Amino acid sequence: MQRTEISTYGEFGLIKHLTEKFKNENPSTLLGVGDDAAVLSYENKKVLVTTDLLLEGIHFDLVYVPLMHLGYKAAVVNFSDIYAMNGDPKQITVSIGVSKRFSVEDLDQFYAGIALACNKYGVDLVGGDTSASLTGLAISITCIGEAEADKIVYRNGAKENDLICVSGDLGSAYMGLQLLEREKIVFAGNEEVQPDFEDKDYILQRQLKPDARQDIIKSLREKGILPTSMMDVSDGLSSELMHICTQSNVGCRVFEDKIPIHYQAVVMAEELNMNIVTAALNGGEDYELLFTVALEDYDKIISMEGIAVVGHITKSAHGLQLVGREGEEIEMRAQGWNSLED
Ligand code: ADP
Ligand code: MG
Repeated sequence: MQRTEISTYGEFGLIKHLTEKFKNENPSTLLGVGDDAAVLSYENKKVLVTTDLLLEGIHFDLVYVPLMHLGYKAAVVNFSDIYAMNGDPKQITVSIGVSKRFSVEDLDQFYAGIALACNKYGVDLVGGDTSASLTGLAISITCIGEAEADKIVYRNGAKENDLICVSGDLGSAYMGLQLLEREKIVFAGNEEVQPDFEDKDYILQRQLKPDARQDIIKSLREKGILPTSMMDVSDGLSSELMHICTQSNVGCRVFEDKIPIHYQAVVMAEELNMNIVTAALNGGEDYELLFTVALEDYDKIISMEGIAVVGHITKSAHGLQLVGREGEEIEMRAQGWNSLED
């Protein structure tokens, strides 16, 4: 493949090259890339802002993550945070620190992934910053979104007897990561061996190309359901439940056999001698929505596809209880998936 050094473009030429294909679509974007600051216009709406920092070697491994996927995922995880507030993402800024290892073609791939995500979710790229780096790739994406003032859903609104709901399935992205890590070690030992990814497409896609649950947010609105609390599952169910329960000053009871798990994740866990429920509770990067709804919304909720009711909210004094398959109660510990720990 052709390799064009970034230095042949220079900083301004590179920014122009990377961003000129992006067109602004949202009325709230008055001015995007090109001046000292973007100009946005939000009338009669609240503005949501979220940001993420991704560092090579800490958050992603370019041995098995293609740059286009990385761009897509880096954008989508920010959209997921806006949806988790019941908002709609509208603009992003993308800042990158790039070492000499990367060519213009590499960055083209990365921005192609961002463009794919932006087109799919209706988001404009309105700015960013570009710098040289000594140690690989650093990415920071900020996303701006909008929400109706009285429709924003926080983490602190869960009430006793509310139902606890989860979209999609949990643990698959984590099992996808375990598979990629295993194949990386196998490959390092013998470069002749081709990775064995048969019947693993779903968990790989969940790790490499996650999607934000815009569809769930849309159908909740269509059904007239306003969750009492909500967040996206990026660090594992038990850690996220801990956040909702702490901030809402409530407890919860979650039933192990109700936690939605995909069969490919089950098979992978068996192959690796891991416990799939532990992976679903403590794995990361599912980007599903965890939310609570009032008991009155039960009929509406079960009529929606792709949502599992996994338990209910209790008094704070009951703590966080996981009910096992035999009916035994176990106090849940939020291990989370903390990248600050080893
Ligand atoms: P400044 O000197 O004000 O930081 P820059 O020359 O860095 O301006 O950026 C020029 C324009 O290009 C600005 O609109 C900025 O937001 C945008 N921009 C810079 N880097 C990126 C990037 N990596 N991706 C998208 N837009 C960028
Ligand atoms: Mg700059």
